Amino acid sequence: MKFATQCVHAGVHPDAEHGAVMPPLYLSSTYSFADFGKPRRFDYSRSGNPTRQALEDALAALEGGVRGFAYATGMAAESATLALLSAGDHLVVHDDLYGGTYRLITSVTARMGVQVDFADLRDPAALVKVLKPNTKMVWLESPTNPLMNLLDLAALATTCKAKGVLSVCDNTFLSPFFQRPLDLGIDIALHSTTKYINGHSDVVGGGVVVKDAQLAERIGFLQNALGVPQAPHDCYLVMRGLKTLPLRMKAHHDNAVRLARWLERHPAVSQVLHPWLESHPQHALAKRQMTGGGGTFSFRLKGGNEAARRLLTSTKLFVLAESLGGVESLIEHPWTMTHVSMPEEVRRRVGITEDLIRISVGIEDAEDLEADLAQALR
Ligand SMILES: *Cc1c(COP(=O)(O)O)cnc(C)c1O
Repeated sequence: MKFATQCVHAGVHPDAEHGAVMPPLYLSSTYSFADFGKPRRFDYSRSGNPTRQALEDALAALEGGVRGFAYATGMAAESATLALLSAGDHLVVHDDLYGGTYRLITSVTARMGVQVDFADLRDPAALVKVLKPNTKMVWLESPTNPLMNLLDLAALATTCKAKGVLSVCDNTFLSPFFQRPLDLGIDIALHSTTKYINGHSDVVGGGVVVKDAQLAERIGFLQNALGVPQAPHDCYLVMRGLKTLPLRMKAHHDNAVRLARWLERHPAVSQVLHPWLESHPQHALAKRQMTGGGGTFSFRLKGGNEAARRLLTSTKLFVLAESLGGVESLIEHPWTMTHVSMPEEVRRRVGITEDLIRISVGIEDAEDLEADLAQALR
């Protein structure tokens, strides 16, 4: 089945009892045994739940994997994935990424005895230089948040495979509609489903998909053992959001590309960072490994912090808020908002500076969005 068909049908199985067209919401925490020593398919909701199962099957289908896992939040998905590592293992992390991931890895994973090295992996050859005999995992994000740098996932995955190292890609920014990391050789595709997959800014959630059955066993064990799965009601909402993923992603992309091109010509703007613009330094790679640029991107203002403050307090349609991937447009200042958990010198080194603005372009009419930014920039 094609992607849009899967979004509607994957994970949905006929309801034998009533013929419900949409999978019912099962809130029950526990399930009766059929007989002594005979559990049914589900026994306890942390270990498995029919509503969660429907979402997990859909996530697996959309990322092209064998099994999917749904978590309470994107960070729960990340914590559980990092729990594949043991003290003494070495983890390599691309050095520009979501602030919460940076905080988790530097303040928790490292404290648990995992050796962590950050590296700029935009040049895939850089990975070979940082790998050690005890490297067990490489953590990637592409495009990166908020700088929209890209990583060559196929090239990095090839190196990881050759060295027996697990590769993880946070695919939150594009969703499987625009990028499928597992098809490019990555072992673990990870999501904050809070963003595009749910798409309506009314749930927090995480997702993981893998295509290796043995790895799936280990991840399933950790999801249950750590107690981090997503609650059934939230799974139900994510499932509902998922149905329109292709429609929403096309609208996000079209609106974002139009605004990016318009901003590129605006006198108050010094730089626009969007992988679908010809001016993006990795535009060729974007065209190779992605089928669209997504709806979230960043740009730099000529007037630094004060210009940023004026813009962020002048938009009427763009809401001043963190997060991204919802139907409504949001605007934020990574320097003071999403990326404060990164030390100042790290932010400056990677280029997250006071002049940087990130927008999540919603699915409103592009003319209204452009007019709002125009009046705010005035
Ligand atoms: C939001 C986000 C996360 C964390 O997800 P939560 O659902 O907020 O826990 C991880 N990675 C990226 C790229 C994100 O944007």
